[in-house]
Amino acid sequence: MANPVLPSSGVLSPLGLDSVRVLPGFWGDRIVLNNEVTIAHCQEWQEREGWIGNFRGERPRRGREFSDSEIYKLLEAMAWADHPGLPALAEVVAQAQEGDGYLNTRWSGSRYTDFEWGHELYCYGHLIQAGVARLRMHGEDQLTQVVTRAADHVCRRFMDTDETCGHPVIEMALVELYRATGAERYLEMARRFVERRGLPALADIPFGRGYYQDDVPIRQAQVFRGHVVRALYLASGVVDVAVETGDQELLKAVESQWERTVARRTHLTGGMGSRHADESYGEDYELPPDRAYNETCASIASIMLAHRLLLATGDARYADLAERTMYNMLATGVALDGTSFFYVNPLQVRVPATPLDGVNHAAEGGLRSPWFDVSCCPNNIARTLASLPAYVAAAQDGGVLIHHLTSAEIRSERLALRVETGYPWQGSVSVRVLEDGEGRIGLRVPAWAGDATLAHVPVSSQDAPLPEGPVIRQVGPGYAHVEGPWRAGDEIRLELPMRPRWTVPDRRIDALRGSAAVERGPLVYCAESVADEPPLAGVTARVDPPVEHETDGVVELEVGARVAAGGNGSWPYGAGPGSQEGGDVRLRLVPYHRWGNRGPATMRVWLPTI
Ligand SMILES: [Zn+2]
Repeated sequence: MANPVLPSSGVLSPLGLDSVRVLPGFWGDRIVLNNEVTIAHCQEWQEREGWIGNFRGERPRRGREFSDSEIYKLLEAMAWADHPGLPALAEVVAQAQEGDGYLNTRWSGSRYTDFEWGHELYCYGHLIQAGVARLRMHGEDQLTQVVTRAADHVCRRFMDTDETCGHPVIEMALVELYRATGAERYLEMARRFVERRGLPALADIPFGRGYYQDDVPIRQAQVFRGHVVRALYLASGVVDVAVETGDQELLKAVESQWERTVARRTHLTGGMGSRHADESYGEDYELPPDRAYNETCASIASIMLAHRLLLATGDARYADLAERTMYNMLATGVALDGTSFFYVNPLQVRVPATPLDGVNHAAEGGLRSPWFDVSCCPNNIARTLASLPAYVAAAQDGGVLIHHLTSAEIRSERLALRVETGYPWQGSVSVRVLEDGEGRIGLRVPAWAGDATLAHVPVSSQDAPLPEGPVIRQVGPGYAHVEGPWRAGDEIRLELPMRPRWTVPDRRIDALRGSAAVERGPLVYCAESVADEPPLAGVTARVDPPVEHETDGVVELEVGARVAAGGNGSWPYGAGPGSQEGGDVRLRLVPYHRWGNRGPATMRVWLPTI
């Protein structure tokens, strides 16, 4: 089963890359671009920056202390994509491994002297994930041998200590290696890393121990806090440990932390992170659009966690958040040509960025960059898109549950299906049964789709007059099911309402009060202004039904607005709102994931309303 997450129990069993083929369309096109262009782009930059040379012993060593992990994420992407470059890159990595399994190009010679910032176990985590991907896609080879030696070294060195890593990821990696090999020491090691955290296990730092989730034991925490990627990688590993050990209390703890975080610390795009200084969550309802951090990696971590919780519980709300995050964060993180990337993803950009050809030395920026000094995000996108088919559907009681509505061919033990849809631009989804089969077919109706309809069209009735024709019924959010048995040619048709809708924020989100945003289907829209288009500062929108324009299959929207200068310009405060004189304009709204593809621009998702 070619799958990044393969629990041995849980409500749902995911269908892997060997069961799901995503066809051309929104995601299918991005997967092809990723596997053919982005993976090569990432390898080329890592060679150019010397991060691969570090494994060849080239000195001085280049890159940050955790740059080894970037090569491992690339290897994972290559494994899922079945990329022919993998064996040669694995060979380079293998040469740097020491006799006892230790492998790190930065800390060799001064091992395990900095658990807070050294990232050694973090790097192993990504190495192990690459090895699991290779094992499941291909079987044992040099890479999987390197991984087993490294994982055994970790178990020997850390099983009976009280140490752990400042950056989680080893937890979920070890559980997955246990799932892939059956060797229980990996699960036990992961369990101990989870239980150690928060006792505390790490030193206090200026950001506080909450930065790396070492402030309280995981079972006692109320909400995700601190560095967002760390928090979500850790929570993913905790779910994995809980599922494999049958620890319901631990699973419930993460579920309730997730629930509170989604209710109070998540941006409309699904992005998480409100502070730049420590790339962290803010307090409850601290969700500023312009200072939003929303690291691309954090969104990927959120998708990973939501997917795990979905498999453990079968609850559609986890798939809802994963979908929101996929369309508005994952798809935003990479340019339409697959060779530049966003690191941070604010919901408002006030000043157009300066174009940059080389390495972006900061995470900031209103334009995608080809590479960063810390290039976690591009490699993370590469491995996620390469494995994306494994997120689409699951098996349940012999049937198939489709979480993500995308054109695909899906094969389970008893069913073969072909899904065709123009989603997210259009709301029609057709599921055709390819061979006679049995079992229930379920489709997720997203939370925003209040009045969807489902038609069951048996092949026998397709040419028959009513009443033998289709059975049509209203379906609400959650999974809508149709029972088998099935004959080849049977069809299910789901119709989702795709009207644009205005969305208003909770009043407790102070930074957004008095504003509204437009969504259509799973997509969040934004106003974007390039070059001499009307400026967005001082814009006030009319909450009228947006007008749709479709160009080359992409739906853009238009709303009425007024642009006013505001006060007299000498002092931005006064007794009243100041001059509201200004011209009426038509404001063009583009899908948020497409912004920044037309050159330097200002942008805003949340629009003050009249
Ligand atoms: Zn990142």
